[in-house]
Amino acid sequence: MYTIAIHGGAGAVTRQTIAADDDPKFRAGLKAALQAASNILKHDGSALDAVEAAVKCLEDNPLFNAGKGAVYTKKGVHELDAAIMDGKNLQAGAIAGVRNVKNPVSFAKVVMEKSGHVLLSGKGANDYALKMKIEMESDDYFYTKQRYDQWLQVRHTDFYHLDHIVEEIPERKFGTVGAVVMDNSGSLAAATSTGGMINKQFGRIGDSPLIGAGTYANNQTCAISCTGHGELFIRAVAAYDVSCLMEYKNLSLHEAMQKVVNEKLKNMHAEGGMIGADAKGNLSFVFNAQGMHRGSIDAKGVEYVALYGDE
Ligand code: ASP
Repeated sequence: MYTIAIHGGAGAVTRQTIAADDDPKFRAGLKAALQAASNILKHDGSALDAVEAAVKCLEDNPLFNAGKGAVYTKKGVHELDAAIMDGKNLQAGAIAGVRNVKNPVSFAKVVMEKSGHVLLSGKGANDYALKMKIEMESDDYFYTKQRYDQWLQVRHTDFYHLDHIVEEIPERKFGTVGAVVMDNSGSLAAATSTGGMINKQFGRIGDSPLIGAGTYANNQTCAISCTGHGELFIRAVAAYDVSCLMEYKNLSLHEAMQKVVNEKLKNMHAEGGMIGADAKGNLSFVFNAQGMHRGSIDAKGVEYVALYGDE
């Protein structure tokens, strides 16, 4: 038995903000990512390999704010953040503020497996990527018209926002991506990847690559991947807080996620959500925004894909 849950970002995801012809494209992107993970798990592959495969698939899809579809920083470039964690042994790898890496999640896995470190950032991370022969792409690869147009509208302002809560931007696209998995051996893993916030300050790092904030996995409790206002998720130590509520207070996965997303984060005015898996085969999606791109394959093999809050 295995389970998979994925997300492609939470926020103002409504039938008004998603163009009618984009709706099926988002769903197809989510389904493809579920399939990528499922192909590994049905052959007894590991949760770690499965979360990597799902996130990689979403990174390659220009609709999501990760890898190819990443948002622009204030300087008009892409700085990518990602993390991956293995619940079996609490090993973790992450990268922050890297440029031109095609699949940040795979690079995070290499950091975990080969570097002896957990988190590499900026130029040091880019140098390490070259040394490890990580697949790189030119700046052109990361160009998408929608993200570029979004950035043109805000580049002269001082503010930076989650791309999905900038009310002034008419064509808002949404989407940090993440995956959580329980594999056939009952082991958990989590991964998250993002371009961060549009017009973000050079060097800004969000919650996604920070273990315990945006990403966490522990076989004793849960695997969690978050999406939302990174600064606030960092301050809430959101992903690890779910694990703590399960470990120390015996809350169920869903109860713990509800408490963190709909009480703690909400009280901090932190818009967003998270996906979770536990080692008993439960999955949960909780968000306090209008919608969240999400999908799952549950313990019975039933596939679910949804975008809006009422699905
Ligand atoms: N949490 C991400 C960040 O702050 C953004 C997102 O979820 O869309 O970098």
